[in-house]
Amino acid sequence: MTTHLLSVARTLDHCTVLGPGTRAVIWVQGCPLRCRGCVAAETLPFEGGTSREVAELAAWLAALTGVEGVTLSGGEPFSQAEALSELLDAVREARPGFSAMAYSGFRYEALRRGTTGHQALLDRLDLLVDGPYVAAQHGSLRWRGSSNQRVLPLTDRYARLLAQSPDTSAGVELSVEADGSFSWAGVPPVPGFREGMEEQLAARGFVLHTRGRRES
Ligand code: SF4
Repeated sequence: MTTHLLSVARTLDHCTVLGPGTRAVIWVQGCPLRCRGCVAAETLPFEGGTSREVAELAAWLAALTGVEGVTLSGGEPFSQAEALSELLDAVREARPGFSAMAYSGFRYEALRRGTTGHQALLDRLDLLVDGPYVAAQHGSLRWRGSSNQRVLPLTDRYARLLAQSPDTSAGVELSVEADGSFSWAGVPPVPGFREGMEEQLAARGFVLHTRGRRES
């Protein structure tokens, strides 16, 4: 029986710059780390966000067309590992081939030695991007912001793709909402991307909604 709630900062139904193919994205709310240069400061406090039922999110994911999986970002997904494991199990009941990728500010080895919740979530992932964002090591890299971070295949699903495709930035996606506001998703290939874009948009009277992955 589904029992968990997830604290969610944002969701996006289609994204091509945060993992392989076209994916849904869930940005969870709350992170215990404070990396300098984190591009998603509004997702760091554990207070805030929207409380969403796992069953409701699972139904949303299962009904999406044109996506092959979900990317879990934040915030720190492993701070809500049990609920996210439950979510992936529920989605895969309806869509067994649904892939899962997650970001974490912690290294894989530490997560593997972590709680049973951490291990359960690792066991359900196809890809993990691990480690904190380190501004001094920023690079134009595939799906991550700094070169200390790794894209780790935890199943065979994307192992060949990782080996064969170039390790270069997937860029960011910009979109205009129905109310005229802008939003973006992705990992900025250059430091200071968010600040620069916000300044330019503000000068033109636009409001920015962040859907970035904290430069990681
Ligand atoms: S970069 Fe990631 S791990 Fe670091 S503070 Fe931001 S959300 Fe947390």
